[in-house]
Amino acid sequence: MKKILQDLSFAQLKSLVESYGGLPFRAKQLYDGLMRGKALSQININPELRARLSEEYEDDPVKTEKIFRSADGSEKYLFRLADGNIVEGVLMKYKYGNTQCVSTQVGCRMGCKFCASTLGGLVRNLTSGEILAQVLKINAMHEKGKERGVTNIVLMGSGEPLDNFDATADFLKNVTAEGGINVSARNISLSTCGLVPQIYKLAELGIPVNLTISLHSPTDEGRRRIMPVANKYSIAEILKACDFYFGKTGRRYIFEYSLIKGENCDKPRAEQLTALLKGRPCHVNLIRLNEVKERELKGVSEKEAYRFMGLLKDGGLSVTLRRIIGSDIGGACGQLRAGYINTPYKNSEE
Ligand code: SAH
Repeated sequence: MKKILQDLSFAQLKSLVESYGGLPFRAKQLYDGLMRGKALSQININPELRARLSEEYEDDPVKTEKIFRSADGSEKYLFRLADGNIVEGVLMKYKYGNTQCVSTQVGCRMGCKFCASTLGGLVRNLTSGEILAQVLKINAMHEKGKERGVTNIVLMGSGEPLDNFDATADFLKNVTAEGGINVSARNISLSTCGLVPQIYKLAELGIPVNLTISLHSPTDEGRRRIMPVANKYSIAEILKACDFYFGKTGRRYIFEYSLIKGENCDKPRAEQLTALLKGRPCHVNLIRLNEVKERELKGVSEKEAYRFMGLLKDGGLSVTLRRIIGSDIGGACGQLRAGYINTPYKNSEE
Protein backbone atom coordinates (compact mmCIF):
# COMPACT_ATOMS: atom_id res chain seq x y z
CA MET A 1 0.00 0.00 0.00
CA LYS A 2 1.22 3.50 -0.80
CA LYS A 3 1.42 6.15 1.89
CA ILE A 4 -1.39 8.57 2.70
CA LEU A 5 -1.01 12.34 2.38
CA GLN A 6 -3.94 12.96 4.73
CA ASP A 7 -1.89 11.36 7.52
CA LEU A 8 0.37 14.40 7.48
CA SER A 9 0.00 17.65 9.38
CA PHE A 10 0.60 20.87 7.45
CA ALA A 11 4.14 21.10 8.88
CA GLN A 12 4.90 17.53 7.78
CA LEU A 13 3.46 18.18 4.34
CA LYS A 14 5.61 21.28 4.04
CA SER A 15 8.81 19.35 4.81
CA LEU A 16 7.77 16.67 2.34
CA VAL A 17 7.23 19.19 -0.45
CA GLU A 18 10.51 20.90 0.41
CA SER A 19 12.35 17.57 0.34
CA TYR A 20 11.17 17.24 -3.26
CA GLY A 21 12.55 20.69 -4.00
CA GLY A 22 9.10 22.31 -4.05
CA LEU A 23 8.47 25.83 -2.77
CA PRO A 24 6.50 26.34 0.46
CA PHE A 25 3.47 27.86 -1.34
CA ARG A 26 3.03 24.58 -3.19
CA ALA A 27 2.63 22.83 0.16
CA LYS A 28 -0.14 25.27 0.98
CA GLN A 29 -1.87 24.61 -2.35
CA LEU A 30 -1.62 20.89 -1.76
CA TYR A 31 -2.85 21.12 1.82
CA ASP A 32 -5.81 23.33 0.85
CA GLY A 33 -6.79 20.89 -1.88
CA LEU A 34 -6.61 17.92 0.49
CA MET A 35 -8.65 19.75 3.11
CA ARG A 36 -11.33 20.36 0.47
CA GLY A 37 -11.61 16.58 0.12
CA LYS A 38 -9.86 16.37 -3.23
CA ALA A 39 -7.82 13.50 -4.64
CA LEU A 40 -4.18 14.30 -5.46
CA SER A 41 -4.97 14.13 -9.18
CA GLN A 42 -7.70 16.78 -8.77
CA ILE A 43 -5.48 19.32 -7.03
CA ASN A 44 -4.09 22.10 -9.14
CA ILE A 45 -0.37 21.89 -8.36
CA ASN A 46 2.84 21.75 -10.30
CA PRO A 47 2.62 18.58 -12.45
CA GLU A 48 6.17 17.52 -11.70
CA LEU A 49 5.54 17.70 -7.97
CA ARG A 50 2.31 15.79 -8.41
CA ALA A 51 4.07 13.07 -10.38
CA ARG A 52 6.72 12.73 -7.66
CA LEU A 53 4.11 12.56 -4.95
CA SER A 54 1.97 10.02 -6.73
CA GLU A 55 4.86 7.58 -6.91
CA GLU A 56 4.74 7.23 -3.15
CA TYR A 57 1.29 8.42 -2.10
CA GLU A 58 -2.24 7.24 -2.74
CA ASP A 59 -4.24 9.40 -5.10
CA ASP A 60 -7.50 9.03 -3.17
CA PRO A 61 -7.17 6.76 -0.10
CA VAL A 62 -10.83 6.96 0.96
CA LYS A 63 -13.18 6.73 -2.00
CA THR A 64 -16.90 7.29 -1.65
CA GLU A 65 -18.32 4.02 -2.93
CA LYS A 66 -22.00 4.43 -2.22
CA ILE A 67 -24.43 6.74 -0.43
CA PHE A 68 -27.71 5.57 1.10
CA ARG A 69 -30.26 8.25 1.92
CA SER A 70 -32.74 7.67 4.74
CA ALA A 71 -36.31 8.93 4.77
CA ASP A 72 -35.35 10.94 7.88
CA GLY A 73 -32.66 12.88 6.00
CA SER A 74 -29.62 11.07 7.35
CA GLU A 75 -27.13 9.52 4.96
CA LYS A 76 -24.93 6.46 5.19
CA TYR A 77 -21.65 6.44 3.28
CA LEU A 78 -19.63 3.44 2.25
CA PHE A 79 -15.99 4.32 1.87
CA ARG A 80 -13.56 2.10 0.03
CA LEU A 81 -10.00 2.12 1.33
CA ALA A 82 -6.95 1.61 -0.87
CA ASP A 83 -6.66 -2.08 0.13
CA GLY A 84 -10.32 -2.72 -0.75
CA ASN A 85 -11.64 -2.70 2.79
CA ILE A 86 -14.89 -0.86 3.40
CA VAL A 87 -15.81 1.40 6.31
CA GLU A 88 -19.09 3.15 6.94
CA GLY A 89 -19.90 6.68 7.99
CA VAL A 90 -23.18 8.41 8.75
CA LEU A 91 -24.24 12.04 8.42
CA MET A 92 -27.13 13.22 10.59
CA LYS A 93 -28.77 16.56 9.90
CA TYR A 94 -29.99 18.66 12.79
CA LYS A 95 -31.24 22.22 13.07
CA TYR A 96 -27.91 23.35 14.51
CA GLY A 97 -25.77 21.61 11.90
CA ASN A 98 -24.56 18.29 10.58
CA THR A 99 -23.08 15.57 12.77
CA GLN A 100 -20.86 12.97 11.19
CA CYS A 101 -20.33 9.56 12.73
CA VAL A 102 -16.82 8.35 11.90
CA SER A 103 -15.24 4.88 11.91
CA THR A 104 -11.80 4.34 13.42
CA GLN A 105 -11.22 0.66 12.61
CA VAL A 106 -12.30 -1.87 10.01
CA GLY A 107 -14.32 -4.13 12.30
CA CYS A 108 -13.67 -4.20 16.04
CA ARG A 109 -12.25 -6.64 18.57
CA MET A 110 -14.19 -5.54 21.65
CA GLY A 111 -16.89 -8.17 21.16
CA CYS A 112 -19.88 -6.32 22.65
CA LYS A 113 -22.84 -8.66 22.41
CA PHE A 114 -25.27 -6.17 20.87
CA CYS A 115 -23.08 -4.59 18.20
CA ALA A 116 -22.73 -5.46 14.51
CA SER A 117 -19.30 -3.86 14.02
CA THR A 118 -17.57 -6.56 16.02
CA LEU A 119 -19.19 -9.59 14.36
CA GLY A 120 -16.19 -10.35 12.15
CA GLY A 121 -13.57 -9.21 14.65
CA LEU A 122 -10.94 -6.60 13.95
CA VAL A 123 -9.68 -6.48 10.37
CA ARG A 124 -7.32 -3.55 10.80
CA ASN A 125 -6.81 -0.13 12.29
CA LEU A 126 -7.42 2.93 10.14
CA THR A 127 -4.64 5.46 9.83
CA SER A 128 -5.30 9.01 11.03
CA GLY A 129 -5.56 10.12 7.40
CA GLU A 130 -8.16 7.48 6.64
CA ILE A 131 -10.23 8.75 9.54
CA LEU A 132 -9.73 12.38 8.51
CA ALA A 133 -10.49 11.77 4.84
CA GLN A 134 -13.96 10.44 5.76
CA VAL A 135 -14.70 13.87 7.25
CA LEU A 136 -13.07 15.79 4.40
CA LYS A 137 -15.14 13.92 1.84
CA ILE A 138 -18.51 14.42 3.51
CA ASN A 139 -17.69 18.00 4.44
CA ALA A 140 -16.86 18.89 0.83
CA MET A 141 -20.13 17.38 -0.35
CA HIS A 142 -22.23 19.40 2.07
CA GLU A 143 -20.33 22.68 2.24
CA LYS A 144 -22.33 25.81 1.45
CA GLY A 145 -20.08 28.80 0.77
CA LYS A 146 -18.26 29.48 4.02
CA GLU A 147 -20.60 27.24 5.99
CA ARG A 148 -19.00 23.95 6.96
CA GLY A 149 -20.63 20.75 5.71
CA VAL A 150 -19.74 18.88 8.90
CA THR A 151 -20.13 20.85 12.13
CA ASN A 152 -19.94 18.04 14.68
CA ILE A 153 -18.10 14.75 14.76
CA VAL A 154 -18.81 11.66 16.82
CA LEU A 155 -16.29 8.82 16.94
CA MET A 156 -19.05 6.25 17.14
CA GLY A 157 -18.77 4.40 13.86
CA SER A 158 -17.19 0.98 13.62
CA GLY A 159 -14.21 0.37 15.85
CA GLU A 160 -13.02 1.30 19.31
CA PRO A 161 -11.18 4.63 18.96
CA LEU A 162 -9.04 4.10 22.06
CA ASP A 163 -7.95 0.67 20.78
CA ASN A 164 -6.39 2.63 17.89
CA PHE A 165 -5.05 5.35 20.11
CA ASP A 166 -2.20 6.88 18.11
CA ALA A 167 -4.14 7.23 14.87
CA THR A 168 -7.14 8.61 16.76
CA ALA A 169 -4.92 11.13 18.57
CA ASP A 170 -3.33 12.28 15.29
CA PHE A 171 -6.76 12.52 13.71
CA LEU A 172 -7.93 14.73 16.58
CA LYS A 173 -4.85 16.95 16.19
CA ASN A 174 -5.28 17.29 12.44
CA VAL A 175 -9.04 17.76 12.36
CA THR A 176 -8.84 20.55 14.96
CA ALA A 177 -5.75 22.21 13.41
CA GLU A 178 -6.07 25.87 12.48
CA GLY A 179 -5.73 26.32 8.76
CA GLY A 180 -7.22 22.90 8.14
CA ILE A 181 -10.87 21.93 8.42
CA ASN A 182 -10.61 23.18 12.00
CA VAL A 183 -13.53 21.53 13.78
CA SER A 184 -13.61 22.67 17.40
CA ALA A 185 -12.80 20.03 20.03
CA ARG A 186 -16.04 21.02 21.80
CA ASN A 187 -17.92 19.71 18.77
CA ILE A 188 -16.22 16.32 18.81
CA SER A 189 -17.34 13.35 20.93
CA LEU A 190 -15.21 10.28 21.44
CA SER A 191 -17.04 7.17 22.51
CA THR A 192 -15.27 4.29 24.24
CA CYS A 193 -16.33 1.00 25.77
CA GLY A 194 -14.04 1.94 28.66
CA LEU A 195 -10.34 1.33 27.99
CA VAL A 196 -9.14 2.90 31.22
CA PRO A 197 -5.39 3.51 30.61
CA GLN A 198 -6.19 5.18 27.28
CA ILE A 199 -8.74 7.50 28.92
CA TYR A 200 -5.86 8.87 31.00
CA LYS A 201 -3.76 9.26 27.87
CA LEU A 202 -6.59 11.07 26.14
CA ALA A 203 -6.87 13.45 29.08
CA GLU A 204 -3.17 14.31 28.67
CA LEU A 205 -3.52 15.00 24.95
CA GLY A 206 -4.73 18.55 25.47
CA ILE A 207 -7.63 18.29 23.03
CA PRO A 208 -10.75 18.59 25.19
CA VAL A 209 -13.21 16.48 23.21
CA ASN A 210 -16.40 15.23 24.84
CA LEU A 211 -15.68 11.91 26.49
CA THR A 212 -18.47 9.40 26.09
CA ILE A 213 -18.48 6.06 27.89
CA SER A 214 -20.57 3.09 26.81
CA LEU A 215 -21.82 1.94 30.19
CA HIS A 216 -24.97 -0.11 29.48
CA SER A 217 -25.26 -1.46 33.01
CA PRO A 218 -24.88 -0.08 36.54
CA THR A 219 -22.97 -3.16 37.77
CA ASP A 220 -19.76 -4.90 36.74
CA GLU A 221 -21.58 -8.20 36.68
CA GLY A 222 -24.24 -6.82 34.33
CA ARG A 223 -21.62 -5.25 32.07
CA ARG A 224 -19.62 -8.46 31.91
CA ARG A 225 -22.66 -10.25 30.50
CA ILE A 226 -22.76 -8.01 27.43
CA MET A 227 -19.30 -6.41 27.17
CA PRO A 228 -16.15 -8.56 27.40
CA VAL A 229 -14.07 -5.43 28.16
CA ALA A 230 -15.78 -5.34 31.57
CA ASN A 231 -13.67 -8.36 32.55
CA LYS A 232 -10.66 -6.13 32.29
CA TYR A 233 -11.80 -2.81 33.77
CA SER A 234 -14.32 -2.18 36.52
CA ILE A 235 -16.89 0.60 36.63
CA ALA A 236 -15.04 2.07 39.63
CA GLU A 237 -11.86 2.33 37.56
CA ILE A 238 -13.78 3.90 34.69
CA LEU A 239 -15.38 6.51 36.96
CA LYS A 240 -11.99 7.39 38.41
CA ALA A 241 -10.60 7.90 34.91
CA CYS A 242 -13.64 10.03 33.99
CA ASP A 243 -13.04 12.26 36.99
CA PHE A 244 -9.42 12.63 35.97
CA TYR A 245 -10.62 13.60 32.49
CA PHE A 246 -13.01 16.14 33.96
CA GLY A 247 -10.23 17.57 36.12
CA LYS A 248 -7.97 18.02 33.10
CA THR A 249 -10.49 19.33 30.59
CA GLY A 250 -13.39 20.75 32.59
CA ARG A 251 -15.69 18.86 30.25
CA ARG A 252 -18.66 17.00 31.68
CA TYR A 253 -18.61 13.37 30.55
CA ILE A 254 -21.43 11.38 29.01
CA PHE A 255 -22.63 7.84 29.55
CA GLU A 256 -24.31 5.95 26.79
CA TYR A 257 -26.79 3.39 27.90
CA SER A 258 -28.47 1.16 25.32
CA LEU A 259 -31.76 -0.20 26.60
CA ILE A 260 -31.89 -3.97 26.25
CA LYS A 261 -35.04 -5.87 27.06
CA GLY A 262 -34.83 -7.95 30.23
CA GLU A 263 -31.20 -6.94 30.72
CA ASN A 264 -30.63 -3.44 32.01
CA CYS A 265 -33.72 -1.24 32.20
CA ASP A 266 -35.95 -2.24 35.11
CA LYS A 267 -36.63 -0.25 38.25
CA PRO A 268 -33.80 -1.74 40.38
CA ARG A 269 -31.32 -0.94 37.55
CA ALA A 270 -32.63 2.63 37.43
CA GLU A 271 -32.04 2.95 41.16
CA GLN A 272 -28.56 1.46 40.94
CA LEU A 273 -27.66 3.73 38.06
CA THR A 274 -28.94 6.78 39.90
CA ALA A 275 -26.96 5.88 43.00
CA LEU A 276 -23.84 5.32 40.89
CA LEU A 277 -23.95 8.57 38.94
CA LYS A 278 -25.73 11.06 41.14
CA GLY A 279 -23.71 14.18 41.86
CA ARG A 280 -21.18 13.48 39.13
CA PRO A 281 -20.53 16.01 36.35
CA CYS A 282 -22.14 13.77 33.78
CA HIS A 283 -25.04 13.27 31.45
CA VAL A 284 -26.78 10.02 30.51
CA ASN A 285 -27.75 9.36 26.92
CA LEU A 286 -30.25 6.52 26.56
CA ILE A 287 -30.44 4.67 23.26
CA ARG A 288 -33.09 2.13 22.39
CA LEU A 289 -31.22 -0.96 21.25
CA ASN A 290 -31.19 -1.35 17.51
CA GLU A 291 -31.69 -5.01 16.93
CA VAL A 292 -28.96 -6.66 14.91
CA LYS A 293 -30.16 -9.74 13.07
CA GLU A 294 -27.22 -11.94 14.09
CA ARG A 295 -27.77 -11.07 17.74
CA GLU A 296 -30.33 -12.34 20.19
CA LEU A 297 -30.74 -9.22 22.30
CA LYS A 298 -33.98 -7.31 21.97
CA GLY A 299 -34.83 -3.66 22.27
CA VAL A 300 -37.60 -2.00 24.27
CA SER A 301 -40.67 -0.01 23.24
CA GLU A 302 -40.67 3.75 23.28
CA LYS A 303 -42.97 3.66 26.28
CA GLU A 304 -40.57 1.47 28.27
CA ALA A 305 -37.70 3.75 27.32
CA TYR A 306 -39.58 6.81 28.58
CA ARG A 307 -40.45 5.01 31.80
CA PHE A 308 -36.78 4.21 32.47
CA MET A 309 -35.81 7.77 31.62
CA GLY A 310 -38.45 9.10 34.00
CA LEU A 311 -37.00 7.05 36.85
CA LEU A 312 -33.52 8.43 36.24
CA LYS A 313 -34.86 11.97 36.00
CA ASP A 314 -36.79 11.55 39.22
CA GLY A 315 -33.56 10.33 40.77
CA GLY A 316 -31.90 13.61 39.79
CA LEU A 317 -29.80 12.57 36.79
CA SER A 318 -29.39 14.65 33.66
CA VAL A 319 -30.69 12.33 30.97
CA THR A 320 -31.95 12.32 27.37
CA LEU A 321 -33.29 9.64 25.06
CA ARG A 322 -31.58 9.59 21.70
CA ARG A 323 -33.78 9.60 18.64
CA ILE A 324 -33.28 6.60 16.41
CA ILE A 325 -31.93 7.85 13.12
CA GLY A 326 -31.15 6.05 9.89
CA SER A 327 -32.36 2.58 10.84
CA ASP A 328 -33.92 2.15 7.37
CA ILE A 329 -30.43 2.41 5.82
CA GLY A 330 -28.63 0.31 8.44
CA GLY A 331 -27.08 3.51 9.75
CA ALA A 332 -28.33 3.46 13.34
CA CYS A 333 -26.06 2.88 16.35
CA GLY A 334 -24.44 -0.50 16.30
CA GLN A 335 -25.55 -1.28 12.76
CA LEU A 336 -22.38 -0.26 10.99
CA ARG A 337 -20.37 -3.14 9.72
CA ALA A 338 -17.38 -3.82 7.53
CA GLY A 339 -19.01 -6.67 5.64
CA TYR A 340 -20.48 -5.00 2.54
CA ILE A 341 -18.77 -5.68 -0.78
CA ASN A 342 -16.09 -8.01 0.46
CA THR A 343 -16.97 -10.13 -2.52
CA PRO A 344 -16.46 -7.62 -5.36
CA TYR A 345 -13.16 -6.68 -3.76
CA LYS A 346 -11.95 -10.26 -3.74
CA ASN A 347 -13.04 -10.70 -7.35
CA SER A 348 -11.25 -7.61 -8.52
CA GLU A 349 -8.03 -8.74 -6.85
CA GLU A 350 -8.08 -12.24 -8.25
N1 SAH B 1 -16.34 1.49 20.41
C1 SAH B 1 -17.01 2.70 20.84
C2 SAH B 1 -17.89 3.29 19.76
C3 SAH B 1 -18.97 2.36 19.43
S1 SAH B 1 -20.50 2.80 18.79
C4 SAH B 1 -17.83 2.40 22.08
O1 SAH B 1 -17.94 1.25 22.45
O2 SAH B 1 -18.32 3.34 22.68
C5 SAH B 1 -21.30 3.96 19.72
C6 SAH B 1 -22.36 3.48 20.69
O3 SAH B 1 -23.36 2.64 20.11
C7 SAH B 1 -21.77 2.72 21.83
O4 SAH B 1 -22.31 3.22 23.02
C8 SAH B 1 -22.26 1.33 21.60
O5 SAH B 1 -22.27 0.57 22.78
C9 SAH B 1 -23.62 1.58 21.03
N2 SAH B 1 -24.22 0.46 20.32
C10 SAH B 1 -23.58 -0.55 19.69
N3 SAH B 1 -24.46 -1.40 19.14
C11 SAH B 1 -25.67 -0.92 19.41
C12 SAH B 1 -26.99 -1.34 19.10
N4 SAH B 1 -27.20 -2.45 18.39
N5 SAH B 1 -28.03 -0.59 19.54
C13 SAH B 1 -27.81 0.53 20.24
N6 SAH B 1 -26.60 0.99 20.56
C14 SAH B 1 -25.53 0.28 20.17
